Amino acid sequence: MLKDKDRIFTNLYGMHDRSLAGAKARGHWDGTAEIIARGRDKIIEQMKASGLRGRGGAGFPTGLKWSFMPKQSDGRPAYLVINADESEPGTCKDREIMRHDPHTLIEGALIASFAMNANACYIYIRGEYIREKEALQAAIDECYDAGMLGRNAAKSGWDFDLYLHHGAGAYICGEETALLESLEGKKGMPRMKPPFPAGAGLYGCPTTVNNVESIAVVPTILRRGPEWFAGFGRPNNAGTKLFGISGHVNAPCVVEEAMSIPLKELLERHCGGVRGGWKNLKAVIPGGSSVPLLTAAQCDDAIMDFDWLREQRSGLGTAAVIVMDQSTDVIKAIWRLSKFYKHESCGQCTPCREGTGWMMRVMDRLVRGEAEVEEIDMLISVTKQVEGHTICALGDAAAWPIQGLVRAFRDEIEDRIKAKKTGRISAVAAE
Ligand code: SF4
Repeated sequence: MLKDKDRIFTNLYGMHDRSLAGAKARGHWDGTAEIIARGRDKIIEQMKASGLRGRGGAGFPTGLKWSFMPKQSDGRPAYLVINADESEPGTCKDREIMRHDPHTLIEGALIASFAMNANACYIYIRGEYIREKEALQAAIDECYDAGMLGRNAAKSGWDFDLYLHHGAGAYICGEETALLESLEGKKGMPRMKPPFPAGAGLYGCPTTVNNVESIAVVPTILRRGPEWFAGFGRPNNAGTKLFGISGHVNAPCVVEEAMSIPLKELLERHCGGVRGGWKNLKAVIPGGSSVPLLTAAQCDDAIMDFDWLREQRSGLGTAAVIVMDQSTDVIKAIWRLSKFYKHESCGQCTPCREGTGWMMRVMDRLVRGEAEVEEIDMLISVTKQVEGHTICALGDAAAWPIQGLVRAFRDEIEDRIKAKKTGRISAVAAE
């Protein structure tokens, strides 16, 4: 189990003072100017050495991403944009950082912006996060008053402004280019790539978009050393990580743990175990609603990291673990996700606009058993026509849970169709 001394987030549950003074007392904002004095190249090199992979879902190496930013400005400013639009169903880790431990994020924003030659950073926060916005804004204001932000921020010699922008509550604005469009005041619709944001991002200027947790862990990594961070987890899956566990466990929670922790240990140590015991487990979505589920048999040996879960054709995503026990109508659970993605599609590309609705309607009939068995293959074929054929990853996100469901629970789907035909059960109706 991760020891308390190795936790980056020391006020995750809001039990302590979240003000600047409280954060300093817990070791934050310690030697920030010294870290910045190491220079850009050194900071990026240390971030690469730490092995940190982006915590927003894709798992791209953070230090490498930073290195894509131009070393010399061509006259355009550079920007860091922090994605706080945490909207993936099941995901609720960044909110704990913003409302209870906001100084980890603010200090990280200063250091990361310096490393990318950015004098300004925007945090784009989800529309529904009203209390989180208030807490974060209060912390930002406090930092301006104390000289930690603004001219010569934290006496580092770097001028730095931090802006908090409140979104309007659309899931698609969590996609990095839709987020930039929204920040520019336009409709939140993803852009075609290339150009990538590091070449032309916010206002056409070099931009890096990072997740809240990815930035909030930066100061501690640089203070304690990249080797310390790299010491947790299996190779290529380094560090500590916030896991958000919801669903059928006895005590749902957000907890910081070492990467590569076995799923069973995570649930039993921190969540009081599965409701009704481990044998009562039916399935787990290990990384937020867009990743395929794991069956109970897979869960027995599951290791919570990027590589193990990818090998199982699932993913760590945002490490939002959704637990389903035997009482779950798993077909209906995945139908509900299909409905979500249909609702949140921005509609600009045909496979996603039409496909998400089509998939949802077939799922709707599968829930009630009012379909033909052949339609299961037809549904899978449609998911393949959507997957990889759209501007952004929402198409994939809509396709993958269905593919995972059919892979793991095809028998249950077929059984329901047959049962409905023979009148053996009155199948559950989708509401
Ligand atoms: Fe919009 Fe869907 Fe296309 Fe993404 S995949 S750009 S959400 S229509």
